Amino acid sequence: MTTIVRNLQLVRDRITTACFAANRNPATVRLLAVSKTFGADAVADAATDGQRAFGENYIAEGVEKVLALRAQAGMPALEWHCIGPVQSNKTRLVAEHFDWVQSVDRLKIAQRLSEQRPAGLPPLQICLQVNIDGGANKSGLAPGEVLALAQEVSQLPNLVLRGLMAIPEPGADFDADCAVHAKTKALFDEINAAGVLSVAMDTLSMGMTADLEAAIHSGSTMVRVGTAIFGKR
Ligand SMILES: *Cc1c(COP(=O)(O)O)cnc(C)c1O
Repeated sequence: MTTIVRNLQLVRDRITTACFAANRNPATVRLLAVSKTFGADAVADAATDGQRAFGENYIAEGVEKVLALRAQAGMPALEWHCIGPVQSNKTRLVAEHFDWVQSVDRLKIAQRLSEQRPAGLPPLQICLQVNIDGGANKSGLAPGEVLALAQEVSQLPNLVLRGLMAIPEPGADFDADCAVHAKTKALFDEINAAGVLSVAMDTLSMGMTADLEAAIHSGSTMVRVGTAIFGKR
């Protein structure tokens, strides 16, 4: 067994344990393996153990891996999530090569992704990135801006609004992490309850290597884990 496969199994155990502690069904939490800075070989290794969803932050690097893995004989179809900032001049590459974009925080970017999504592909799955703890240098919408953008994005033809994504700063302890994740969960519930979306959001993407237990405790449906699977960057 490779180190990556062993790590992957340890992360799955953490997810299962966190779900039981929170009285949740482990099937309600998906694992996104964040492969940024690691090569196609690392992704292929994780895929041998059944991992299918991978997250990339840097567009050019991500596209290179998407193409390399698609060309590998016997490789099952993988699901690629863009989780890093998307500038206007990169939307076409993203629309052509990724399945999900979790880092949408402007209408203009969403419109371009919808316009540039190739006709033969299913709609792009979208999460809006929320700056839930108000970090000054961080991308993401202020919580008060999310509802309006959610409504607009949900009407774009080649996108499907799936949910929210947040990357809060690590807190002092489990309770502090839970408190900030609970804010994202409350916003998610509030938007679904507002009745402005024709289809409710089903994805709350929060929790990374350091805080996945707190995120699952707070209602995360997708944890994005890099370091604990692939090692230090
Ligand atoms: C790098 C990254 C992760 C993974 O972080 P780890 O701490 O290595 O698990 C998750 N989400 C986003 C948006 C990232 O940029």
